[in-house]
Amino acid sequence: MSIDPARLARDGGAAVRTAPLPSVMDSSGRRFGDEEVKAVEGVLRSGMLSSTWGTEVPALEHEFAALLGANHAVACSSGTAALHLAVAAVDPEPGDEIITTPISDMGTVIPILMQNAVPVFADVDQETGNLSPATVAAAITPRTRAVIVVHLFGKPAPVRELRELCDRNGLMLIEDCAQAYLARVGDTVAGRIGHIGCFSLQQTKHISAGDGGLAVTDDAALARRMRLFSDKGWPRDTTERTYLFLAVNYRMSELVGAVARAQLPRLPGVVADRRTAAARATAALSDLAGVTVPPDVGDHVYWQYPLILDPDVAGDLQEWAAALTAEGIPANGGYLTGALYSAPVLRDKVTYGRSGYPLEDVEYPVGLCPTAEDLINRRLLVLPWNENYTADDVDDVVAAVRKVHAVLAGVQG
Ligand SMILES: *Cc1c(COP(=O)(O)O)cnc(C)c1O
Repeated sequence: MSIDPARLARDGGAAVRTAPLPSVMDSSGRRFGDEEVKAVEGVLRSGMLSSTWGTEVPALEHEFAALLGANHAVACSSGTAALHLAVAAVDPEPGDEIITTPISDMGTVIPILMQNAVPVFADVDQETGNLSPATVAAAITPRTRAVIVVHLFGKPAPVRELRELCDRNGLMLIEDCAQAYLARVGDTVAGRIGHIGCFSLQQTKHISAGDGGLAVTDDAALARRMRLFSDKGWPRDTTERTYLFLAVNYRMSELVGAVARAQLPRLPGVVADRRTAAARATAALSDLAGVTVPPDVGDHVYWQYPLILDPDVAGDLQEWAAALTAEGIPANGGYLTGALYSAPVLRDKVTYGRSGYPLEDVEYPVGLCPTAEDLINRRLLVLPWNENYTADDVDDVVAAVRKVHAVLAGVQG
């Protein structure tokens, strides 16, 4: 008896894909080569592993600032740390508000709470999952100090409009670019429209050094404040030996800096290859009823490849994710298990001791951001993406999506 090629793997059919796709979890989906090995060895043999006296991290800062066309870059220990530098540079009063998105990594939100400010969640655009100028404008109050916008999955948010809105209201705009290296925004890139742009070097990002972060700005005062905040408030640019304000130690080590420096020249190729693979998928998936491919006007850098389902036409999101995973394409239904504000840290105010501070008078009810919740619960199907996907890999992803669609969309009404 021959195998029915249309029968889903979850129902006992043959999987589209049996070999694993290139993955960010091992060398198959990462570009670490002799340059990185030599860079690490050079640091070790030099005997100087600290960026306070070393040369690699200062060189990385210089090269990253040049790559983005920024006046300053400050390196630190993670993307979350980079965002913390940015919020510390805003220097909110306790209880001030910072507007952000409910669909992101919690690293977007933690720095707000760490600086005793209140995260205010604005709803997102249903096609991109990004903040929109209208939702942010509606969330501004007299206590708002800043906006942290995320370029979700590598699709640029409308940052020019958000910057105008912020300027009109005397707010700082921080761009969380952890998923959006070199994403085109007009004649520049993500991270250059806001006052500060923040990047991550965590394992799964476009480039990596395990962990690490970078914050860019054109503003010398903001850059100095971020550098001081990452270095215990110790003013190394003066002859003073003192601690200027409450700060942390988020310094990047020379080992990390050396790897990140070796990764930088690979970045344009990583982005181009992710875009090429995504264009192939998009061309092959654009005709599926109830499935919307990611909008791309030459700007998306595809940290992941998100599809938006119309569940009434295409079928159930979690069934899709399970069926695709069974076909050998590890899909993620919803990206998050819930909006960020539904996590215990925010919902139950698990912050400083039992005080609930600074959220005593804040509630984050279910339904706060209905579009975001609908995306997470019913619509957002996230496919892992990678610079090392071959055309055959993409064709397998496409074949799996089309196969699952034929069954799950077929059973709708
Ligand atoms: C990864 C990520 C972060 C946090 O970066 P870390 O380096 O893991 O601290 C913040 N925001 C977004 C959007 C991310 O994807």
